[in-house]
Amino acid sequence: MEHIENDDQFQGLKVNKGISEQPTVNPYLNNFKRFKRKTYTVSEYVEGIRKGDISILGQAVTLIESSKQEHQSIAQEVIEKCLPYTGDSVRVGITGVPGAGKSTSIDAFGMHILKGNNKLAVLAIDPSSEMTKGSILGDKTRMERLSIEKNAFIRPSPSAGSLGGVARKTRETIILCEAAGFNRIIVETVGVGQSETAVHSMVDFFLLIQLAGTGDELQGIKRGIMEMADGIVINKADGNNIEKARLAQSHFQNALHLFPLPDSGWAPKVLTYSGYYEIGIEEVWNMIDEYIGFVKQNGYFDHRRNDQARFWMYETINERLKNDFYNNPAVQAELKICEQQVLSSQITPFSAANKALNTFTKHR
Ligand code: GDP
Repeated sequence: MEHIENDDQFQGLKVNKGISEQPTVNPYLNNFKRFKRKTYTVSEYVEGIRKGDISILGQAVTLIESSKQEHQSIAQEVIEKCLPYTGDSVRVGITGVPGAGKSTSIDAFGMHILKGNNKLAVLAIDPSSEMTKGSILGDKTRMERLSIEKNAFIRPSPSAGSLGGVARKTRETIILCEAAGFNRIIVETVGVGQSETAVHSMVDFFLLIQLAGTGDELQGIKRGIMEMADGIVINKADGNNIEKARLAQSHFQNALHLFPLPDSGWAPKVLTYSGYYEIGIEEVWNMIDEYIGFVKQNGYFDHRRNDQARFWMYETINERLKNDFYNNPAVQAELKICEQQVLSSQITPFSAANKALNTFTKHR
């Protein structure tokens, strides 16, 4: 391609003509590329994870995230073998709109958690990850201090598939992390859409990060999200913002009084803090510890985990049935016909659905 910049008269920088192929700096490099990453057997994975080998843990998580059948079957075996070593942990979900300060706060919370001789895994569920390839949440660069700590494992959101599928993968990753000795788990999500419900279904404590706004903080927060929260924290309570944050705190506290007491018996608290200036970090974590102590004593801790296990069993069945149904070639063909018939009012949507379901039963 000719560039005007290459005209003899042109005074500015010149653009060289392109070359068809980059010369190889090291011709031996091509040989190395052929070497695949080492693959492990199921027991090597389990042994590595149990020893806390981060590299093997990371590779096992990659298997969980893979859509390949052979990877999935190894992953499932590894998960099952790891299951007996899990459970002795505290799982915390953190949500908040973009800009609420989730990553800044998780960095600060994380450093506090590590001081207590814990191992922390930070995972994420990002509903937009199909587009962003999971780069928005759980990204290492967003948690600068944590990302270089050897006792912290940070993993961005799995990117492929439906929210249900992504959430299942994160839940399975929790199992592997716990087997690897990570006794504190944070699952982060953005405060939009359905992802909070997914996170809520896999954690012991659900923390909602809020910002003090214009005085009408409760606007725009879905009632459902507030009801799910075991604690609400108002971030950026620093500088000129301290008063506003306190005001927001009392708004939220009043609003929470209107809800019935949750099944846990724990009345959700509202605190203010600053993730950036690290003010009130310890208090936020003390609240979570207090909650865990409370629900362990009244039996709700185990009750919630059992509920969650049951939920995930049915979620997995639903997910699998849906995939099998929509990937079935006979169903796919039938659906095309049914759709046309529905659109031209030849049959009702219900009988079309029945026809497709019957096709599935016959051709499974
Ligand atoms: P996220 O999108 O929820 O992960 O939010 P970030 O952690 O990326 O924070 C968004 C912006 O808010 C960044 O510019 C942070 O520096 C700033 N921020 C986060 N926490 C605080 C805080 O406690 N106080 C103040 N003043 N700014 C903060």
